[in-house]
Parts: sequence; C-alpha cells; structure tokens
Amino acid sequence: MRETTILLPGYGPASFHNLTVLTFGTPGARPHIYVQGGLHADEGPGMLAARMLADLLATVEAEGRVTGCVTVVPAANPIGLSQFVHGDQTGRFDLYDGRNFNRDYPDLGDEIAPRIAGRLGRDPETNVALIREALRAALDDRMAAGPTDHLRLELLRLAMPADVVLDLHCDGEAEVHLYTQPASLDRMRALAALTGCRALLLAEISGGNPFDEAVVWPWVELARRFPDHPIPPACASATLELRGRSDVSRRLGAADATAILRALVHLGAVSGTVELPPPACEPTPLAGSEALVAPVRGLLSYAVDLGARVAEGDVIAEITDVVTGEVTPVRTRTSGVFYARPATRIAEIGKRLGKIAGAEPFRDGLLLSP
Ligand SMILES: [Zn+2]
Repeated sequence: MRETTILLPGYGPASFHNLTVLTFGTPGARPHIYVQGGLHADEGPGMLAARMLADLLATVEAEGRVTGCVTVVPAANPIGLSQFVHGDQTGRFDLYDGRNFNRDYPDLGDEIAPRIAGRLGRDPETNVALIREALRAALDDRMAAGPTDHLRLELLRLAMPADVVLDLHCDGEAEVHLYTQPASLDRMRALAALTGCRALLLAEISGGNPFDEAVVWPWVELARRFPDHPIPPACASATLELRGRSDVSRRLGAADATAILRALVHLGAVSGTVELPPPACEPTPLAGSEALVAPVRGLLSYAVDLGARVAEGDVIAEITDVVTGEVTPVRTRTSGVFYARPATRIAEIGKRLGKIAGAEPFRDGLLLSP
C-alpha cells in the first residue's frame, strides 16, 4: 500500500485540508478500480466501508493477489468533514455557497473533442489512451474557482484514469441501492448482487452533473461524436448507497468491504474466484423512481417498512397535524420497492418522504434529490 496526501486549500487564510489516497497493486496496471467514500461528508457508512476495504486490500496485496491497481480514498471530502453547525456535523452542502458536494462536476467530453479530432485511429486501445491523456490535460488546464472546486478537480484527476469508479454514499434511512448508467450496467451487476442491492437505478443523465457521471459521460459523448472511430466505454461508474446515515457499524462495514472486494475479484483487479449470489433486484429506470412529497405539515409515521414491495395506492406514511389531530395519508402512485426515506420524522410541506423504485419511467428533468 502506498499512501499519498494531496494538500487542498481551505476557505480561510492559512487553512488547508489533507486528502489521503491509498493505492494497492501496480500503478498503471489494469483493471484500475477507484473507490471513494464520504463525498457527502456526513455519510459515514461509505467511509467506514472504504476504510475497511483498504484494510482488506492491504492483506490481499501482501499475499500478492492485487493483479490490477486499486485506489481507495476513504474520506473524499475533508472540506465537508470540517463543517459543523451548532455541534452537528453537516457535509452534503458546502456551507460556503450552498452547493451540493456531489454536483457541478465538469462535463469534459465537449471540451476535449477538439483536442482529439483528427488524432483518433482504428485501434480502440490507442484511442482510449489518447482520450485519457486529453482528459488529464483538460483537468490540468482548469482553474479551480475555490477550495471545493479544487477538491472536485483533484477527485476527477484520481478517478478519470480508472476502468471502474465506485462512489460510496448513503441515504437518510435506506436499503442498499445503486445508481448507474446503461453504459456501466454490465460491470455493476456483480457489485449489486454481492451487496444485496434492492434497487438498481439507471439513468444516462440524472441531472446536476454528479461525480459518477462526470467520469463516464465523456466516453459516451465522444463515441457518439466520432462514430467512425472505435471508442469503447472505457470507464464504468456507480454511486453505491450503503443504507442509512446511522447504519455505521464495523459489522456492516466489514460485510460491505468484503462484498466490494469480491466485486474487485470479479472485475479481475484481485485474483481469486467468487460465486455470485442471485441478484436481489432487476434494474429499473431512475425516471421511474417516485419521490414521495409531504402535502401537509406534521409528524411523520410510516405505515410500511423499508424494503417492502408496495403497490400503487398503498399508504406509505401518515402525517399527523399536531394542532388538530387530523391524519393525512400519503399514498404511492408507483408499484415497486420502497427503498429509501429520510431519517427525521417531522415533516414540512414539500419534504421528501421516501423513494419507490418503479419499473415505468414517468419523470424527466433533475432526477436526483437536491
Ligand atoms: Zn450522498
């Protein structure tokens, strides 16, 4: 294991943050897998899983079993980790400007198209190398507007060269679920099965430019733009949601780290054999995932458990008006798995009350939570 530290500027004068990067195997070896936790810095399960994955990788590396290269960043957002409001850690949004730490990643496909036009050939591997070099150059040319943009660029520099990128997150309360794109799906099915994923949500573009799509989109876009040259989808990515914010335990962390390590074996980055369990779900469109919204204010009580299969018209939650005692049922319009809900039980009008993975697409525009 090699440990390197990237120094990031903080917002205040003379303030800095450290981004710790752990690398296993031989740099440049393929496949190269990149795993990060805690891009939303108030989400512990992914950070613990990434940390415990690094511990497992140190063992298998000592056994000579890391045949590719694996980069692990257990705490991808030291800026968010330093944010506290009145004693509570807060890490989804940058307190400086309110931006979500997992949005606004640059779409580099358009930017590098002129750099590679006329230089592409007939050999897919040569084209991949050319595009990776152009992506690297484009990142190096960008000027960060501030510390968080600086972090965004550093994370992209680490992840862009990888064949597979895993971004570990969690929801308020949730079953394991995973967001990916059609171009990445085949390389994520094993991970989904191994982690017991209950909703595998597909979108080519979910909106807002999240990290996972920023590393994949250039390949899709350039393949479309240069149809006469073979450009394979050289990077696959997923956002893996490891349950809810309070699901932080070494037992769960060990199970998740083991599942990810097995996925690395399946991908060929670590030697060994792995038997895949049957998948716990089939892929469904992110555009078919209903986000229930509170129509009234009050105290929130769930009528069904997380992970339940629900049908259109089922009451998912009831909201009790504290003053009048009136109870308002909240019904789903979707049939599917109830896979995520917030951790709090006081609802304001418009509060997102939960997500149900339906098979039929019905939404467009921004498909992710704010
Ligand atoms: Zn997150």
